[in-house]
This record gives sequence, C-alpha cells and structure tokens, in this order.
Amino acid sequence: MEGARRRGRLASTYLFAGEEGIGKRSVALAFAASLNCSEPGEHEGMLDACGRCPSCIKMASDTHPDVLVVEPLTNDILICQIRPGKERDKCDQEGYVKPRVEEMLAYKSFEGGMKVVIVDQAEKMNNSAANAFLKTLEEPPEGSMIILVSSQPDRLLPTIRSRCSRLNFRLLPDDTCRAVLDGPESPDGVSDTTVRLAMGRPGLAASEDLLAERDRFFDTLDMMLGGEAKPPWKDRADTERFLDSAMLLLRDMAVAKTSPEALVNSDMADEVAEMGARSSLDGILNCYERLRELRGTLLFNLNRGITWNYAASLMGELKIHG
Ligand SMILES: [Zn+2]
Repeated sequence: MEGARRRGRLASTYLFAGEEGIGKRSVALAFAASLNCSEPGEHEGMLDACGRCPSCIKMASDTHPDVLVVEPLTNDILICQIRPGKERDKCDQEGYVKPRVEEMLAYKSFEGGMKVVIVDQAEKMNNSAANAFLKTLEEPPEGSMIILVSSQPDRLLPTIRSRCSRLNFRLLPDDTCRAVLDGPESPDGVSDTTVRLAMGRPGLAASEDLLAERDRFFDTLDMMLGGEAKPPWKDRADTERFLDSAMLLLRDMAVAKTSPEALVNSDMADEVAEMGARSSLDGILNCYERLRELRGTLLFNLNRGITWNYAASLMGELKIHG
C-alpha cells in the first residue's frame, strides 16, 4: 500500500482481512491520518503522521471531518448508517449522530486532504446496508478511499469483496506483539503469559485482561465438568471464546507431554501436565480435532445447549480433574 502511494497508484477501495486483534483497524486509522497529515515524516520506510498538526489532532480526538469510521450500531451495520434518510428511525433510536457514508462522500474534503471511510467489522453489514454500500463501491468519488476491515471476509458479499484490493494481515511474532503491548500503560512491561496468551494478536491483549479471561474459562470448564446442564454463554461470541480456550488448553496438555518449554500457559505448567496425565496423546488430539469441528459448525448456528452437552461429553472423556 505504501508502494502504491509512492507511485501515486493507490486503489480507492481496500479490504483489510485477518484475525481479530492484530491491528487492522489501527493500521487503517494510521493510514488515514498519514494521508491527511500536513507534515508527515518517514518512519521505517513508511510515511507516518506527525501527530501534532491540526489534522492529526482531530484524528486523535475522533473529530476529523474527512475521516469516518463506521461500525456496528447494535449487532449490525444498518442502512441508515450508509444512506441518508433510509430507515432513519433505527439510527435515531440509537442516538446515532455521525454523517451517513453517502452524505460524507458527497461533499468535497473539508481540509483539502483525502476523504477516508473505514468500515470496521464490515461483515456485520446487514443485507440492505451491504446492497446500499455496493453503490458507493461502484463509483467511489474522486479523492476518497474506502477501507473495509474484517476478521470474517468470507461473510462479505462476493460482489463487495471483488471490488476491493485485499490486504491480508498475519499474526505477529511474540517479540513484535510485546513491543506493541509495552506502552506507557504498562510501565513494568506485560507478563510473558499475557504475550503468549495473545498469540500474535496484541489488540486482543490490549482490549481485555487475558489472565482474567482465562480464569473465567476455567470457572466455566469446572461448571461443565461438574455436570451443570445449562450453558452460561451469553451469545455466540462467548461460546466461540470458550471453545478457543478449550482448544488452547488441549493443545497445551499435548505439548506438556512432549515439549513443555512451548506451553502457552507457561505459568501453569504443573497444573496443565496434571490435567493431561490421565489421557493419551492420541486421546487429547482426537478431542481437539472434534472441538475444532464443533467450532466450525457454530457458523451454522448450532444450538447453544447442544454445543454445551457435546463439548461436555468430549472434555469429560479426558478425565481432566481425575
Ligand atoms: Zn500531522
């Protein structure tokens, strides 16, 4: 993208794809800032916003008139966020005051820079929003850029995907992840366990307390293995998070048998080894594989109760607590 900028060949629509928490939205915002900055400097071969000019100050306070971030209002991105006048009452109910995408793009840039629309969690556009948005993608106005950000790009309409230049974001190595996380907010540096639990997604560690999240997982697992009949999961995201943590635990139980130095839950080495002591490596890997399949079928809206019972029977076979 930087190369394209230097050659004056930036595309007008991009799709930033990759797992949650690896910095797609941050990069989109940084790029928007650098496009509008009046005195960008160079940093590691990339143009970087100065952070001091009027444009940068507006970016930092989220009040830049030429940069619009659209994200789900409740669960979805609605057509009233895209097209003025359409189903306005829904936006009104939520007290949504930002300009609509079409409206914002229709006017000339206020500050003389580039107009940038960033659609975060773009896969959450509902049908009418996505169809309205297609119109904008077909004819993006001169001097504007649209960046769609998505951790589930396969859920976007194919017609939307095909109109964007796609950039795939990868998981970060632990060292880079630590460098991102070691900021002014964590003067003593983040713990090794936090870096390992982030698994290449610094945004995840920045947005939630991964150690507290892990405690919550073990509480839920205890409920499950204790025979609780009703799942405590609030929604699908909650269910997915539990299954991800369960798969991570199984991965560690297997690793504890062969190469304990590679544990993610490295601060719990003894407990993890103990949890896996009553199962064979094959048994653990088989359970992992079946949980992974279960995680995949969640995409088809599998009932929460069934998911809970099936996961309980799989995890129960391993006799984790003896
Ligand atoms: Zn600046």
